[in-house]
Amino acid sequence: MNVFPSRYMPCPDCGASLERREKSHDCEPERRLDFVLFQLRDDVAGFEGELAVYLATPRGRFEVFYAERERARRAPESAGETRS
Ligand SMILES: [Zn+2]
Repeated sequence: MNVFPSRYMPCPDCGASLERREKSHDCEPERRLDFVLFQLRDDVAGFEGELAVYLATPRGRFEVFYAERERARRAPESAGETRS
């Protein structure tokens, strides 16, 4: 009789099915990225809204101003460049 519910368990880092007795496992980077993004999908979806709200506050507007100023200071040759 098998005392374990399954011989396999998901890798906590990438979600791949692993044999329990398997000691070493190298996560595939692409699989790991998909797994992490899948777990974070709600956070990612909420983040843009939260960021927009934050950037509308006085503090957020200052952060945008400061970040742009710092970027211009670090890369003077591209100071006038605008990105969209
Ligand atoms: Zn893994």
